[in-house]
Amino acid sequence: MMFLSTMRLLTLARRWRAHPAAVERPDPGSPAVREAAQRNRGSLQLRHVDAGSCNGCELEIASMSSPVYDAERFGIRLEASPRHADGLLVTGPVTRNMAGPLRKTLDAVPRPRVVVAVGDCARNCGVFAGAYGVEGSVADVVPVDLEIPGCPPDPATIITALRGLAGT
Ligand code: SF4
Repeated sequence: MMFLSTMRLLTLARRWRAHPAAVERPDPGSPAVREAAQRNRGSLQLRHVDAGSCNGCELEIASMSSPVYDAERFGIRLEASPRHADGLLVTGPVTRNMAGPLRKTLDAVPRPRVVVAVGDCARNCGVFAGAYGVEGSVADVVPVDLEIPGCPPDPATIITALRGLAGT
């Protein structure tokens, strides 16, 4: 029984892989986004930093790499080391404890680089605005090149925005 269930899951995963979810083409975006697209030429490696998220945005980011959304078909990958990344993907309001680590992680990313603020908390602190442990939005701590609204933004929306940076 367990074997059949596993086989069924594998078959479904193969079907999703064959027909991944549709993702919109991005708008050309700001000059900073256009510059990044020319520079990255179809390959965008991002280091993710959770600066104080509720983990809702993380669930959507994790889904980006699933067979359903398959962000890698657009050259978009998460990278473990900031030293090997083209930029940061930051979620959550920035807590007081994470302000320093966020700055240090950005310092480790080689220039030129981009910073993407994912979700309403990253953009303007969202539901955590005014909380005692919150330092501010991502833009209050490091320079931001692209903001992706939503609470949380769905994987297709995140991929559409990142395609602008990847140039795909
Ligand atoms: S934007 Fe919404 S889902 Fe994302 S960290 Fe904030 S509250 Fe959670």
